[in-house]
Amino acid sequence: MKSSARVVVVGGGVVGASVLYHLTKAGWSDVVLVERKELTAGSTWHAAGGMHTLNGDPNVARLQQYTVNLYKEIEAESGQNCGIHLPGGLQLADTPERLDWLKMAMARGRYLGMKMEMLSMKEAKELNPLLEEKYFVGALYDEDEGSVDPYGVTHAYAICARNRGAEVYTNTMVNDIKQRQDGTWTVYTDKGEIHTEHVVNAGGLWAREVGRMVGLELPVLAMEHHYLMTEPMDEVIEYNKTHGKELPHMIDFAGEIYARQEGQSILLGTYEQDNRPWAAKDTPWDFVFQLLPHDLERIAPELERGFAHFPAVGRAGIKKFVNGPFTFSPDGNPLVGPIKGMPGMWSACAVMAGLSQGGGVGLSLANWMVHGDPGADIWGMDVARYGDFATLAYTNTKVRENYSRRFRITFPNEELPAARPLLTTPIYDRLIEHNAVMGAGFGLEHPLWFQDKGKEPKEDVTFYRSNAFNNVAEESKAVRERVGFSEASNFAKYKVSGAGSAAWLTSLFTNALPKIGRTVLTAMLNPEGKIVGEFSVSRIGEEEFFLFGSQAAEVHHPRWFIAHLPKDSAIRFENLSLSMVGLTVAGPRSRDLLQKLTDTSLATKDFPFMAFRKVNIGMAPIWLSRMTYTGDLGYEMWIAPEYQRYLFDLIMEAGKEYDMRLFGFRALITMRLEKNFGTWYREYRPIYTPLEAGMERAMKFDHEFIGRAAVEAEMKNGGPKRKLVMFKVDVDPERPADVIGDEPVWHNGNVVGWITSGGYAHYSGVSLAMGYIPTELAEEGTTGFEIEIIGKLRPATLQLEPVLDPSGSRMRA
Ligand SMILES: Cc1cc2nc3c(=O)[nH]c(=O)nc-3n(C[C@H](O)[C@H](O)[C@H](O)COP(=O)(O)OP(=O)(O)OC[C@H]3O[C@@H](n4cnc5c(N)ncnc54)[C@H](O)[C@@H]3O)c2cc1C
Repeated sequence: MKSSARVVVVGGGVVGASVLYHLTKAGWSDVVLVERKELTAGSTWHAAGGMHTLNGDPNVARLQQYTVNLYKEIEAESGQNCGIHLPGGLQLADTPERLDWLKMAMARGRYLGMKMEMLSMKEAKELNPLLEEKYFVGALYDEDEGSVDPYGVTHAYAICARNRGAEVYTNTMVNDIKQRQDGTWTVYTDKGEIHTEHVVNAGGLWAREVGRMVGLELPVLAMEHHYLMTEPMDEVIEYNKTHGKELPHMIDFAGEIYARQEGQSILLGTYEQDNRPWAAKDTPWDFVFQLLPHDLERIAPELERGFAHFPAVGRAGIKKFVNGPFTFSPDGNPLVGPIKGMPGMWSACAVMAGLSQGGGVGLSLANWMVHGDPGADIWGMDVARYGDFATLAYTNTKVRENYSRRFRITFPNEELPAARPLLTTPIYDRLIEHNAVMGAGFGLEHPLWFQDKGKEPKEDVTFYRSNAFNNVAEESKAVRERVGFSEASNFAKYKVSGAGSAAWLTSLFTNALPKIGRTVLTAMLNPEGKIVGEFSVSRIGEEEFFLFGSQAAEVHHPRWFIAHLPKDSAIRFENLSLSMVGLTVAGPRSRDLLQKLTDTSLATKDFPFMAFRKVNIGMAPIWLSRMTYTGDLGYEMWIAPEYQRYLFDLIMEAGKEYDMRLFGFRALITMRLEKNFGTWYREYRPIYTPLEAGMERAMKFDHEFIGRAAVEAEMKNGGPKRKLVMFKVDVDPERPADVIGDEPVWHNGNVVGWITSGGYAHYSGVSLAMGYIPTELAEEGTTGFEIEIIGKLRPATLQLEPVLDPSGSRMRA
C-alpha cells in the first residue's frame, strides 16, 4: 500500500469507484481507493440496477443522462460486462396532475436533448401489455431507461481507473482521518497510514461515520427498501418472442412502485408509506454483503395496488424478496462537493440512485477537484445546500418524508410539513396571528402571503394559480400604492471587518466597494468568470462591511470566502445568520411612516437611495438601508433579534394611518419581476457569466478581481453567447398557468433557451418569465417566441425594459 497519494477515496461502492475513474480520466493518476471489504460490499451489491434520466432538477437529469450513456464506454474500455439493458421506460400517470407533471418533465428534457414522448394508454399498453390501462390516464416514454449490473459497473470503473494508474485496496478499513498542520490529511487504515492532499468520503451506508471522523454530521440516512422478483413469467417470455425485445421499465406513481424485466421475470420494488430508517444513529460495521429481514406487511398496500395495476405479476409466483438499506439526503439528491472550512475534504455521498447518478457525481466531483469547478450546474446536489440546522433528527424526519413522497408530486407552491417549524424569528407568533401562510427555506420559517381573517392559512397546491392569487395581488397593490410591511430575515448576512478587509473584498468582487454609509450591488466570480455569489455590500467603516445575499447560499458563500481568506490576516469573516434579523417597509408612503418614528432626516437629500446607516427607530438601534427588492421607495431594517418584536409592533401601530398591509415572499418575488431583477440560484448560478446575466452595472474594471481575465476574454471574443431576458407571456385564458422555471423557450419552431423563473406580476397585470436565450435573438423587436407551459406553447414577447418604472424613479424618489 502506498504511504502517500494525491487523493484517497474512502469507499468502494459504485460511487467511490466512479470518482476514482473520473479522477484518472481527468489526468490524476496518483489516486487510491480504500475499501474495508470487497468492492460493492455496502448498498451497491443488492441494488436493483435500474437507471433512468428523469429528475425534478433538470441539471441532475442531465448528469443522469451522462451516467446512462457512460456504461457502454466503460464496458468497452474495461472488458468487464456491465449487463447493460436499455429497453426504455414508461412513466404512468394516474391523474391529470401527474399527466401535467410528465408534460413538464418532457418539456424540461427538450433542451437537455432527452428523447421522450407522451403516449396514450393504448400506445403504452402496446409497449407493455402487462399493465392494466384503466388505472392510468397517460404515459411518458423515455428511451434512456434500463438497467445495469451494479457489480459489473463498479468493477468496470475500477479496472479503467487501475489501467490509468489508480490503486484499489480492498479489505482495508479506514479507522480515522486527521488534518495535519499544513492542511494535508492523514488517513489511518488497519494496513497503515496514507498521507494525502484530498480525501473523498464515498462511504455510502457509512458516510455518516466517515464524516464523523473529521467532526462532520452529514445529513444522510439509510432507509430499508424492498423489491421482489417473480418466477419466470409466460407473459414475459411471450412478449420477448413476439416483440424481439425486453419489456420497458415502468414507474407507476399511483401504485408507488417501479417494475422491470429481469431475465424472464419481473422485478418490482416499492417506496412504501409505512417506511423505516435503518441504523438511525450508528451504522454497524459488521454489516457486509448483507440483507435485512423482509417486512411484507409494511409494503402490502403498495403491493396490492401494484398487483392490481399489473395483474400478471400478481398471478406469478414470487421467487425472492430483497430488503436492503441505502442512503438518502433530506431532499433525496446527493451530497457532493468540497466541505466548508476543510480544504481537501470532499463529499460524494447520499447517492440514492447510484446507478443513475453515480457517473454524474464522479464526473462533477473530479472536475471540481482537478479544475476547481464541477463543470456543470450541480447546485441540486451540492453538499452546501444544508447548514447546521440539518441535524440527525431533522434528517431522520425529512428523509422519511422524502422517501414516502418518492412517487408523489411536489407542486411548485407546495411547502412540505416535516421538521417544521424549526428556525423561527421573534415575530413568528405575530405573523401567525396575522394569518400568515408560512414557508421554510434553509430551515427558517418566513411568511409567503397573508390569508384573510377567518380563513384557514393554507395554500392550495397546484401548477396553476392558487388561492393565494387575490391576496398576493392586494399585497402588491399596497406596496405599489401605499405601504407594505414584511419580515426580511431570510437573507444570508455576513460581516467582514479588520485591517485588509477592503483590499480583500475588492479582490473578490466585480464592483468597486461603496463609500462609507452606502451600498452597492456586486457579483463574485470564479476564475472561469462564472457567478459564485451576488451581494449587496454595505460599508460601515473603512474596513467594516455587511454583505447581504441569498439565504440558500449560507454555506456555499462562506465556503468560498473561507477558502480565499488570506493566511495570517487580521480579516474577520462572520456569518451573522440569525444574530441579525430584518424587517422591511416599501411603497410610496414608507418614508412618511418611518419618518414619524425617527429624528434622523429621511429626506432623499439626507438619506438617499442606497444609503446605509445606523438610525434609531423608536427606541431600537437599527442599520437602515434605503433599498428593497420591490423596486419601490423602501427600506430594509437590520437589527439584533431582541429588538424585532418591539420594532414590528411599533411599525404595525404607526402603519395604521397609511393603511399599511403586511406582505409576504410571494408578493416580493413577483414585484421584483416587474423590475427585471434576477435572483440567486434562478437567474444567477455558477454556470452563467455576469455578461450573460446582464450584471454590467455591478462590474467595474478599475480593480483586479477573480474572474476578471475570463470576463475580458469573453468580451474580446464577441461577448456573451446567450443573454438573460424577460418575456411577457400570453397565458392560456381558459386555465391560466404562469411559468415556474425550466420551461423551454421556442423560437420559430426550435427550442432556443430555457426559463429561469417567472410568475404573474399582479400590479402590472401581466405574466412574466425570465430566461436565457442566444444573444442574437435577445434584440428588441425579435418576434416568434413561445414558451411551453404544461404541454402548451404560449406566445411570448420580449420585454427588455422593466414593465414598471423603467427609469427607476420610484425607488430613487
Ligand atoms: C434494495 C435496493 C434496490 C436498489 N435499487 C436501485 C436501482 O434500481 N437503481 C439505482 O440507481 N440504485 C438502486 N439502489 C441504490 C444503490 O444501491 C445506491 O445508490 C448505491 O449503492 C450507492 O453507492 P455508494 O457507493 O454510495 O454506497 P455503498 O455501496 O454503500 O458503498 C460504500 C462503500 O464504502 C465502504 N466503506 C465505508 N466506510 C469505510 C471505511 N471506513 N473504510 C473503508 N471502506 C469503507 C463500504 O464497505 C462500502 O463498500 C438500490 C438499493 C437497494 C438497497
